[in-house]
Amino acid sequence: MEENQVFPKVDVHYNGTFVPNLLVYFAPQVLRLNEDANEFGFSDFIKYVEKLIDFQCKHVYYCIPGVRLSEGLQTLQNECDYSEFLEVANANRHVDVYIDHDNEPLFEWIQKEEPDNEELVYSEEDVDSVLADDENCEHEEDECVTSSKRIFKRAYNDKFLNKLCPVLVEDEYEKGNELPAVYPRHDATQEWRKMKPELGMRFSSPAELKSSLSNYAVAHGYDLYYEKNDKDRLLVKCCKGKIPQCPFRLWASWMKDEQTFQINSLREDHSCSRTFKLGSIVTYKWIGKQFVTDILESPKISLRKMKAMVSKLFNINVSVGQCRNAKRFALCEIEGVVDGWLDGCRKVIGIDRCFLKGICKWELLSAVGRDGNNNIYPIAWAVVNVENKNTWKWFLDNLMGDIDEGGNGNGITLMSDAHKGIMEAVKER
Ligand SMILES: [Zn+2]
Repeated sequence: MEENQVFPKVDVHYNGTFVPNLLVYFAPQVLRLNEDANEFGFSDFIKYVEKLIDFQCKHVYYCIPGVRLSEGLQTLQNECDYSEFLEVANANRHVDVYIDHDNEPLFEWIQKEEPDNEELVYSEEDVDSVLADDENCEHEEDECVTSSKRIFKRAYNDKFLNKLCPVLVEDEYEKGNELPAVYPRHDATQEWRKMKPELGMRFSSPAELKSSLSNYAVAHGYDLYYEKNDKDRLLVKCCKGKIPQCPFRLWASWMKDEQTFQINSLREDHSCSRTFKLGSIVTYKWIGKQFVTDILESPKISLRKMKAMVSKLFNINVSVGQCRNAKRFALCEIEGVVDGWLDGCRKVIGIDRCFLKGICKWELLSAVGRDGNNNIYPIAWAVVNVENKNTWKWFLDNLMGDIDEGGNGNGITLMSDAHKGIMEAVKER
């Protein structure tokens, strides 16, 4: 049967114990899987193995073929690891899997044994992330070279392996490839065209990173897509299905101790050419955010016009359907503004008017508050053909209707430069 087996051989080593220093898996039992690992996802694979060996798989590892455990051990604990594992298995036709039944996660355990004064750069999860950055190597012919490349990548972030492979680590440092000492924080106020992912960059949430990536993709016409996209991890690549694939690759996950989402692996060069049709990276929310002001000024803006404006302003093509959702989203955002003021601002409102430029000489009446950080917070706008007592009264009635549920405005302070119309309108209320 074995001669005819077309799928990669997977040998599971279990009931043994990892021994540190030389790193060996002591006294294992070994069992070869009868199924094709490619048929499984990560959790099914683990369930299947647990059933076979009749034991819980607390921590699972595999080893890059042809090298020692200390050099080739990889964690196998999530879908991302599993796809890397399959690539290794398929490229080598054989791979060994090691089950750790009761130890703490191996890398932590080793770190405890070998205390080090240096501050940890990577958490255990982050080490995995860096490992996940090297998948292209598996397709190269020389597996030895491939393996040492993998060690390179992981060694400079792994204290245990730093000790094992000091020479490699020095080489790696010479290349100047380490994470920056101080992680840059994403600046959400930066001009959208200038946004660019950086290694180590921190974000308040995956959503903030995604929004910044949309800007980056649109600014350069990069057809980015999410290979992994859940609440804990993002794996972003470029130009799906194109051969050769663009080398850009970004991996981000939550930092262990902070409420911070971080880019922990990044290959930032592109070989692709500018695209005008971007896929999932440009969402209707992203489009909607660009149009909040336009929709405020002309709520009846047509979807066709929006589509044309997206094409002109951002040099990308989107569908009318995307514009429809974007417009809905922008209108909801505008409604949300008033609720936001009620929640977070002091009850002082500044009201003012200004002339609108353009073909129609209309006037804009506006009401702004200040939030807890003393930042200006726009609450309401209206465009009127002339500013007078009646238009101000109409504006204030609507404003108070929204923020004071039709009350008489007790407790709310209005500030203005005392236009005659405003004074009269307030008196009449
Ligand atoms: Zn690219």
